[in-house]
Amino acid sequence: MTTDRQNENTVTTEKEIIKIVAGQRDFFKTGATKSYQSRIKNLKKLKAVLLKYETALHEALKEDLGKPEFEAYLSETGFTFLDISESISKLKRWMKSKWTLTSLLTQPGSSRIYYSPLGVNLIIAPYNYPVMLAFSPLIAAIAAGNTAVIKTSELTPACSDIIRQIINETFPPEYIAYIKGEVRETTILLQQKFDHIFFTGSPRVGSIVMTAAAKNLTPVTLELGGKSPCIVHEDAKLDIAVKRIVRGKFLNAGQTCIAPDYVLVHNSIKEVFLNKLKERIISAYGEDASSSLDFARIVADNHFHRICGLIDPQKVVVGGQSDVKSRFIAPTVMRDVEITDKIMSEEIFGPVLPVLEYKSLSEIYDVVDQLPQHPLACYLFSESTTIQQEIINTIQSGNACINNCVFHVANPYLPFGGVGESGIGAYHGFHGFECFSHKKGVLKTATWVDIPLTYAPYRNKIKILRKILK
Ligand code: NAD
Repeated sequence: MTTDRQNENTVTTEKEIIKIVAGQRDFFKTGATKSYQSRIKNLKKLKAVLLKYETALHEALKEDLGKPEFEAYLSETGFTFLDISESISKLKRWMKSKWTLTSLLTQPGSSRIYYSPLGVNLIIAPYNYPVMLAFSPLIAAIAAGNTAVIKTSELTPACSDIIRQIINETFPPEYIAYIKGEVRETTILLQQKFDHIFFTGSPRVGSIVMTAAAKNLTPVTLELGGKSPCIVHEDAKLDIAVKRIVRGKFLNAGQTCIAPDYVLVHNSIKEVFLNKLKERIISAYGEDASSSLDFARIVADNHFHRICGLIDPQKVVVGGQSDVKSRFIAPTVMRDVEITDKIMSEEIFGPVLPVLEYKSLSEIYDVVDQLPQHPLACYLFSESTTIQQEIINTIQSGNACINNCVFHVANPYLPFGGVGESGIGAYHGFHGFECFSHKKGVLKTATWVDIPLTYAPYRNKIKILRKILK
């Protein structure tokens, strides 16, 4: 599949952005996006075009991120197909209004929750999963009956090019529009009045987005990052734990928002765990991961240098090698890491795994509490249901996995999102449909009777009211 490279460097001007947003607002007002037929038709159309461009998307992911084809399918295109198929098959059910209870004071009547589209949406995607994180929110926006403007990351030009082609080939701009651009274009976009902004990216830019949105009282969904802990307790099944940790950490060379950022291992099993981790990394990626076909590259030079700067060679037990030309950083493990080490000062977002140790659960909580962000995910490897419940109840995180890492993202029946500084709101499956919908509560009151209790004159009616409201 060849791409339309002649427009590669075309960015969208301010005038065009204003025109696109105004056009979408007018189009939304016509009601053309709202019917079940229109939503399903557009989802099916998008699925067909995505299938057509699957190979081109895989090639682009290879070009931008050195992403192996298996990872490209598992975590980008395959995931998007799952998402769109799920939306197509469940949409009718999702769109139905839902019955709910009616309180005594509002009787006789009935109550239902209706889902109405939010309107004109802005979707801003990051670089690490450029395909999935552009299309997954878009699918939810279409399913919920909205229009949308999409802006992808300037760090993934090959993917952005194909995404632009897919959008332009499938939809008119008054319905779904693609905006090519960098910070300047995003800043112009953020000055426009949207009905909802869906942002995936860093907490720093999330704050810029939220500040801009506040000016127009625009609601935001923020899918951000954070340092996600991975706890390996003394009773963990270690062979399984290391396999799943290595897969979760080194997928996309660690450039995954929900990658286990660091491991907290019980001190009684630390040495065995470190040995098994080393063995597993070698069996997955070979002695020299730079020649492995299954290991991605860092997206850009600045990220490469930032990640290399976090590695303390004195503490490296596996990996540590890098090559600036190919932006390769080997799967790396650092041992005996302290909370005060540089690597613990920010989200790593690269293939470096620091290992800290603990003796008691309270030491785990101290570490998590001292870090600046509420984690986006928390992972625990333990066979004890008591420990599992304690960790789930104590550590405040967006999501969690017990005896696994990262894979909660692949279950569309779970809401996916952060808490505190790791994000606002959640999506995937029905939760995505909800995220792009307004839940309108509707009370329908009977007219066959008109209870006088709440009308003036009130006289002694408060006594009855007290009985009803207590
Ligand atoms: P980023 O915040 O640098 O960029 C995200 C988007 O914002 C890009 O489209 C970029 O062009 C735009 N942008 C950058 N600077 C901007 C500015 N000053 N004003 C307006 N827009 C601006 O994030 P990134 O480096 O692309 O992605 C990595 C971050 O995203 C990590 O923190 C990671 O944890 C997070 N992330 C979160 C999720 C999630 O689902 N929660 C998923 C993927 C990535």
